[in-house]
Amino acid sequence: MPGTVHVIGAGLAGLSAAIRLTLAGRKVAVHEAAGQAGGRCRSYHDPALDMEIDNGNHLLLSANDAALDFLRVIGAADTLVGPPDADFPFVDLRSNERWTVRIGDGRIPWWIFDAKRRVPGTTARDYLALGRLLWPPRDAAVGEVIACKGTLYDRLLGPLLLAALNTAPPEGSAALAATLLWETVAAGGQACRPLIARDGLGPTFIGPALAWLASRGVTVGFGRRLRAIESVDDRISALDFGDGKLALGADDGVILAVPPVVATALMPGLDAPDDFRAIVNAHFRIVPPPGTPPIVGVVGGTVEWIFAFADRLSVTISGADRLVDTPREALAKTIWDEVAAVTRLDDAAAMPPWQIVRERRATFAALPAQERKRPGAATSRANLWLAGDWTATGLPATIEGAIRSGERAAALAAK
Ligand SMILES: Cc1cc2nc3c(=O)[nH]c(=O)nc-3n(C[C@H](O)[C@H](O)[C@H](O)COP(=O)(O)OP(=O)(O)OC[C@H]3O[C@@H](n4cnc5c(N)ncnc54)[C@H](O)[C@@H]3O)c2cc1C
Repeated sequence: MPGTVHVIGAGLAGLSAAIRLTLAGRKVAVHEAAGQAGGRCRSYHDPALDMEIDNGNHLLLSANDAALDFLRVIGAADTLVGPPDADFPFVDLRSNERWTVRIGDGRIPWWIFDAKRRVPGTTARDYLALGRLLWPPRDAAVGEVIACKGTLYDRLLGPLLLAALNTAPPEGSAALAATLLWETVAAGGQACRPLIARDGLGPTFIGPALAWLASRGVTVGFGRRLRAIESVDDRISALDFGDGKLALGADDGVILAVPPVVATALMPGLDAPDDFRAIVNAHFRIVPPPGTPPIVGVVGGTVEWIFAFADRLSVTISGADRLVDTPREALAKTIWDEVAAVTRLDDAAAMPPWQIVRERRATFAALPAQERKRPGAATSRANLWLAGDWTATGLPATIEGAIRSGERAAALAAK
C-alpha cells in the first residue's frame, strides 16, 4: 500500500499536485501556512471597496491547456469567460488613437497582411522581422534578438511581452518569449483568446478545487507553516511544522510547492530564482460604461491593461518596481485619470472608491540568468519533489506554469 504524499503549499501548484495525486489513487495531505488557499492567485473581501476582489487581475489565454483541464476536473470551466475571437482593443493615450488587433484563427497569420487587423502604422514586413524571436540563441535576452523599438514594438509586442514576462522585455529571456509565441500567436487566434475569471479567482480556481479535494477526503490544513525538513540518507524522514514533528513512513513522499525563497531556506544548497518583479493593481468601484471591452491594452501612459468587471474597473501594471514606493493617493489619481480617459468617463470628476494592491514579489524576474537557476521537479532526495511557477517549466511565472509544475511533480511522486 503506497504511503501518503504531503503537499506543502496550497497555491495553484500545490492544488494541482494534490488533485493529480488523488486522481492517481494516492493518499494526500495538504499543508498551507496561510489561513486560506490560493497563494498569489486569490480573492478577498476588500474593506475600502466593500467588495470581493482579486489580489491581481489574472489573464489566461485559450492556449493554457493545463489550466483549462484543471478547471474541467474541478467543474469550474464555465466560470472562465472571454470573447469568441482573439481580438485585442488598444488605446494610445498620447494620440488617443484606438484600434483592435484581430488575430485570425488559422496558423497562417493572414491578419498581418490586413491593415484593418494589424497595428496602425505597421507593415507586414515588421511582423515577419519578429520571426527571429521564434528561434532565439540559447541564453539570449529579447533585446539581443530583436530591436525593442518602433511602432510594432511600442504598440503590441512590448505590451504583450511585458505582461507575459513581468520583466522589461529587452532584458527578458528570449527563450521564454519564444515558448510563449509558439504556444499562442504562432498557433493561431484560437490559441490566443483572452479568458478572465468572471466571478473572481477564488470562485473559479480555489473554492472549487478545495471542494473537489474535500469531497474525496483530502484535508487541507491551514496555518501549517513548514519550518524544517529532516533527512536520513537520501530520504526525507520528518516534517517540522513547529507543533511537533511529523515522522514520514518509508513510502511517504513530499511535494514542496512553496515560493523559491521559502524552498531555498528549507533546502540549503538549492539553486532557485532570487530576483523578483512587482505587479501593481488598481481597482475602482464603478460600473463600467456600456460597451467597455472586457480587457483593453493601454500604451503611452502608466496604465497597461484595464479589465472591466460587472461592478468595477481594474488596472494591471507589470514590472512595476518603480511604483511600489509611490504614495498610494497620488498613484490612484494618476491611474484613475487614465482610466477615465480610456473609458471616456472624462467628465466624471470624482474618483470612485479605490484600492491599490502592490505585490512586490509577484513573480521571479524572467531574465536569462534567472531562467538558468530554475530547478526541475526531482531533487537530491528520493521522496522529495519541487513544484511552483518558478521551477523549470519552460514558461514564465504564470497560472499555466504553476499548474503544469504541480502535475509534473505529482506524476513523479505517484510512480
Ligand atoms: C498581481 C499578480 C498578477 C498576476 N497575473 C497573472 C496573469 O495575468 N496570468 C497568469 O497566468 N499568472 C499571473 N500571475 C502569476 C500567478 O499568480 C502565479 O504564477 C501562480 O499563482 C503561482 O502559483 P504557485 O502555486 O506556484 O505559488 P504561490 O501562489 O506563491 O503558492 C505558494 C503557497 O505556499 C504557501 N507557503 C509558503 N511558505 C510555506 C510554508 N513554509 N509551509 C506551508 N505553506 C507555505 C503560500 O502561503 C502559498 O499559498 C500573477 C501574479 C500576481 C501576484
